[in-house]
Amino acid sequence: MEIIEKAPAKINLGLDVLRKREDGYHELEMVMSSVDLADRLTFETLPTNEIIVETNKAFLPIDKRNNVYQAASILKERYGIEEGIKISITKNIPVAAGLGGGSTDCAAALRGMNRLWELNLSMDELVSMGVQVGTDVPYCLYGTTAFIAGKGEIVQPLVPMPQCWVVLVKPRISVSTRKIFQQVEMDKLSHPDMNKLSAAILARDYQGMLQHMGNSLEDITIPKHPIIQQIKERMLKYGADAALMSGSGPTVFALCQKYSRAQRIVNGLKGFCDEVYLVRTLQ
Ligand code: ATP
Repeated sequence: MEIIEKAPAKINLGLDVLRKREDGYHELEMVMSSVDLADRLTFETLPTNEIIVETNKAFLPIDKRNNVYQAASILKERYGIEEGIKISITKNIPVAAGLGGGSTDCAAALRGMNRLWELNLSMDELVSMGVQVGTDVPYCLYGTTAFIAGKGEIVQPLVPMPQCWVVLVKPRISVSTRKIFQQVEMDKLSHPDMNKLSAAILARDYQGMLQHMGNSLEDITIPKHPIIQQIKERMLKYGADAALMSGSGPTVFALCQKYSRAQRIVNGLKGFCDEVYLVRTLQ
């Protein structure tokens, strides 16, 4: 039997770094939503007890460094599954981009194996495995617009964000999330208010949402990569309702309600960056 799971990218409508914890992680508050740009995973059982991961991107690891491999290994061990599995990943989400590509693949792998082996695992059980692989995996398992706290393991679903067009622009640089967090100096960060952002989304207030969007990590990533600021400025010049860096970067997204404006932003940014995507919010 073969089954298929979609793994959508996430954007950060908000990210606030509250403090550094004793365990080395940072205490965060975030608001995330998923967009219609997705990787595709297919699953096939194998008679031999092994895990095979394949992907269309040759530079990605396919051994235990791959989040999908880790998900399979944790789930098989926890539930004593002796059948093998082959998972093929068609990557469409840019890698190391701030769009949660590895985390969403891991979440899709857990969902897919749950279906394939008819395990009937609850969301809490899936989350408890996902969090072992990455801090954004719990959100990706929910996949709906949500308020997120802790280091990512506390997920409170909100209502879907107001529908709009999303233009994603990834400059040709890769940013390591770990390195950005290592450079955080708490007294130099701005603090967008995640409670006000969540309240605006719950009230389905598009303008209020735009007003409270913000990302503390822009203060770290932008000085190192000024192209991110240039992309934001261009997006606003071409008519974006808002433009913000996602996660630790470097992808920048623009939101707009009018399709004609979204197209103008795409056309205006295409010559400037190779990777430009026009997508919808996911409901
Ligand atoms: P986040 O927003 O959660 O920080 P990201 O979008 O910045 O994530 P990823 O695309 O998840 O970053 O890639 C980060 C690293 O994870 C890559 O360098 C890659 O080698 C590794 N990785 C492991 N498994 C995967 C996977 N299935 N897809 C993409 N990257 C993976």
